[in-house]
Amino acid sequence: MTKQSKIKTEITTENKCSFCDGTKCCVYTTQQIDTPRTKDDFDHLLWQMAHKNIQVYKDEGEWFLLVNNECQFLGNNGQCGIYETRPQLCRDYSNDYCEFDEPAEKGFQFYFKTYDELNTYCQKRFKKWGIRFTS
Ligand code: SF4
Ligand code: SF4
Repeated sequence: MTKQSKIKTEITTENKCSFCDGTKCCVYTTQQIDTPRTKDDFDHLLWQMAHKNIQVYKDEGEWFLLVNNECQFLGNNGQCGIYETRPQLCRDYSNDYCEFDEPAEKGFQFYFKTYDELNTYCQKRFKKWGIRFTS
């Protein structure tokens, strides 16, 4: 039996992205939205969440749509296909402490991953939420 030694590579900000399975920061976009307060607001959110790859979360008091679509310029090798001319937002994004280190959702106050999760929240938040659907 051969004794194998594991070579541990130190992960630094220079090489971190090459260890990031799925290139986590290039596979979604977010859009801040007005804080939903009324039934109409939540009706609108539910309509949006009825569509594929849409989620909703609340973070630090602000609400966001999360669109889980990968960037069209992300290559199969995890490299950016337009690195030299990539958007400013991508340039400004620091990997000092990113999704590789901790899932972004860890600090979310609300995270509705599915239509049903948001629907259940609406039923609890608005006592007469479901009455409209029984008449
Ligand atoms: S910045 Fe972070 S999340 Fe994005 S590819 Fe690099 S390690 Fe992954
Ligand atoms: S443009 Fe490049 S860096 Fe920006 S999200 Fe797309 S693949 Fe990632």
